[in-house]
Amino acid sequence: MTRLVVVGASLAGLRAVEAARRTGFEGEIVLVGREPALPYDRPPLSKRYLVGEAEVDFYKTEEEIRDGLGVDLRLGVAATGLRPGDHVLETDAGELAYDRLILATGASPRMLPGVPDLDGIVTLRNLEDSDDLRRRIRPGSHVIVLGAGFIGSEIASTARKLGAHATVVEGAPVPLVRAVGDVVGAALAELHPRAGTPLRLSTTISAFHGIDGRLASVELSTGETIPADVVVIGIGASPATSWLDGSGIVLDERDGGVRCDATLRTSLPDVWAAGDIVHWPNAVYGRTMRLENWTNASDQGMRAGANAADPDRALPFETVPYFWSDWYERRIQFVGIAAGEVEYVSGAPGDDRFVAVFIDDDRVVGAATLDEPRKIMKLRGLISRRAGRAAVLDLVQPQLVT
Ligand code: FAD
Repeated sequence: MTRLVVVGASLAGLRAVEAARRTGFEGEIVLVGREPALPYDRPPLSKRYLVGEAEVDFYKTEEEIRDGLGVDLRLGVAATGLRPGDHVLETDAGELAYDRLILATGASPRMLPGVPDLDGIVTLRNLEDSDDLRRRIRPGSHVIVLGAGFIGSEIASTARKLGAHATVVEGAPVPLVRAVGDVVGAALAELHPRAGTPLRLSTTISAFHGIDGRLASVELSTGETIPADVVVIGIGASPATSWLDGSGIVLDERDGGVRCDATLRTSLPDVWAAGDIVHWPNAVYGRTMRLENWTNASDQGMRAGANAADPDRALPFETVPYFWSDWYERRIQFVGIAAGEVEYVSGAPGDDRFVAVFIDDDRVVGAATLDEPRKIMKLRGLISRRAGRAAVLDLVQPQLVT
């Protein structure tokens, strides 16, 4: 019987398994995951779960995975190596032979080099991290978030909600430039001071000071020292691929992500990949991308699962990227890519709501919205149909178009 092994028991991995079964794959499926928990939803870990307003959202029960999907679920097991010539996955619980393999090991938070070993310096990626951070954020405590990216900004917002003092420290003059461009990045950054959270741009942490092994304060590159009970390092994540060292798989030179073709096949025979670890050519934009968002991991997991289940009928994966983020009770949404010229087609920076579109060569390639949830999916549709500027104006400002 053909054995499909999926490494990484989270969003992309689970979606891959579901899609393989939907495609009619009747062989054996083994799902291997390092975390002891059943697959769960990560976005609430910096938002409603961290605040204490939501329980852990498991995607499926153990019975649904084992009996419903017919999966041999191996949690608490880490992949440690891959021998593609032998079709063997090495794990800390022994070797596992595969006929087909899907890699879905996600990403791990980047750590600042040279950080001292002090209690109170943390990162956030998984349930355990969120539980640990929740215990540390108390009313009146001083929380420093290093990095004004989406997750860092969500944590600062959550800390404020929990009654802590939060300060966001960001090395760049404008945050989020890679994700949403400098114009929208600057508009979103303003949400921090507007909510009363100090935002220190073009600033880094130059030293951490502790008392008896516990963090007590940090020194900023400006020379100031500020009290700190917890520092959350939120400077991005890198693909979790170090375990593939020596396997011969082609990885991206810059960030170590797995290089795939349009059908999410890796450079190794019978091995596909999905989710945060993947670089692949996205035909919608004619460029190679790696995305770190929920919708991509889910959709890509489904495509990789279907392609691995039936390689002869593999289809390319194409997408208009979409992600959301919630800070200070506001919903930020983004579709497409941040390229070309930005035009605010509804509202303006500083307003409570806005719609900004990215126009490249008279074609709409991306859109960012603040508290305009009903518009975003329509914009995504327009972008995937390669609509021009007029179609967007018609959607956003119908009364202005004759
Ligand atoms: P992951 O979810 O990271 O799963 C990878 C799994 O593989 C993990 O369980 C990991 O333990 C396991 N693994 C790693 N190495 C090994 C190994 N060697 N052996 C076995 N298992 C291994 N996206 C949005 O669009 N909107 C949001 O608001 C949003 N909020 C987020 C908030 C937080 C705090 C985080 C961390 C992410 C957020 N995201 C958000 C991003 C989204 O959750 C990720 O893009 C998505 O989880 C990626 O799915 P994945 O399956 O590729 O990787």
